[in-house]
Amino acid sequence: MSSGTFSLQRHPDAGTAPATAPAAGALDEKAQAILDAAEADKPSKEERAKNVVWSILKTYYADRQDLIKDVTYPATNKGLITTTPAAKAPKGAEQGSIAVSDEFLEQTTKEGFARRVLQVGHELMHVEQIRKGMSGSDKSAEREFLAFAWEGMAEEVAGTGKMNRGTRLRLINEAIKNYKDLGEDDQKRYKDQYDEVVKKKEALEAKKKAPAAP
Ligand SMILES: [Zn+2]
Repeated sequence: MSSGTFSLQRHPDAGTAPATAPAAGALDEKAQAILDAAEADKPSKEERAKNVVWSILKTYYADRQDLIKDVTYPATNKGLITTTPAAKAPKGAEQGSIAVSDEFLEQTTKEGFARRVLQVGHELMHVEQIRKGMSGSDKSAEREFLAFAWEGMAEEVAGTGKMNRGTRLRLINEAIKNYKDLGEDDQKRYKDQYDEVVKKKEALEAKKKAPAAP
């Protein structure tokens, strides 16, 4: 290059990023393999749905996969539901059972993959919450506020693609809805985190309203 302008392009021998590194927001090989298995014709839908959840656990949450005892099919909602079966695990060592739906499998797409990974992370948080004693229906809003706030604010895991703005907004709105269901003391306790969530919502909405770039 003779112009003398600064260039971000590196010499191929510079040896920084491998030539096969995916562009930002693209799926890497690990993600693509999980996606390919989800979209294959075989085995059955049930097996593929359960396999997606296990693959995500093993690939992206290897250090926390012991939180999960089993993955079942189908789920009674359109996503994932985690329960901690009454089997008497010692307090603080409870394990979760994740039920997976057809929709979760169907939404394991290139566009949906980043969210699917974070969605499993959301369920792992619920098991950790139960281990810390945050169980019972009266703590449901607290559990969901924390899990949706995390999921809505989380950066996508590298190599899993991008979560679109609309999806992120939906997650953030769920967090806000659950915060409003909290008692006064809990609202005070989580005020800082709530403020962060609201700030993110405003930023995302401002992006939506901004005129398209020329
Ligand atoms: Zn949840």
